[in-house]
Amino acid sequence: MHERITPLFSEEQIRVRVKELGVQLTADYAGKVPVVVGLLNGVFPFMADLVRAMDLDMDVSFMQVASYHGGTESTGEVHILKDLDRSIQGRHLLVVEDIVDTGLTLHKVRNLLKDREPLSIKVCTLLDKPSRRKIEVPVHYVGFTIPDHFVIGYGLDLDGKYRNLPYVGVYHP
Ligand code: 5GP
Repeated sequence: MHERITPLFSEEQIRVRVKELGVQLTADYAGKVPVVVGLLNGVFPFMADLVRAMDLDMDVSFMQVASYHGGTESTGEVHILKDLDRSIQGRHLLVVEDIVDTGLTLHKVRNLLKDREPLSIKVCTLLDKPSRRKIEVPVHYVGFTIPDHFVIGYGLDLDGKYRNLPYVGVYHP
């Protein structure tokens, strides 16, 4: 049915890894009440699983941005399609991403959030493609590091499709 897709991480592998991240985050944020910020759209399955693996009081909020990667520009505007529904001033932020590729989106979002004076910003991503990085951006928690493949499933799309696959696979055009 999905003959162009090679499975990369199974439902079970993702479940186990997300649990591990949850245990680590629970320990690292013990005694704090972080604002967990999910970057839409791709993050929704990961975010839902991750927050349920964190045994903490927290606020959950979502943001959606459109990032235009023109040329080598790395500090340009990021267009906010949906903003957070709360103030983050003086709060510990955990930004949750589906995948960090060039790092440009995360870099811009980080700058934008920093201007709102949170106490700390850390980043958790399900997938990381460090070989594609165009700008240095701190990523504190990584589910899986992957080579330069185009992946889909578990929230990640190809033209809006495949977000609902329960596993992560490599798409072969
Ligand atoms: P960056 O700004 O780091 O280059 O881009 C991050 C965004 O690009 C991700 O949030 C995601 O929407 C998209 N992206 C990057 N790599 C992939 C990939 O392998 N598969 C999919 N479906 N989206 C990707």
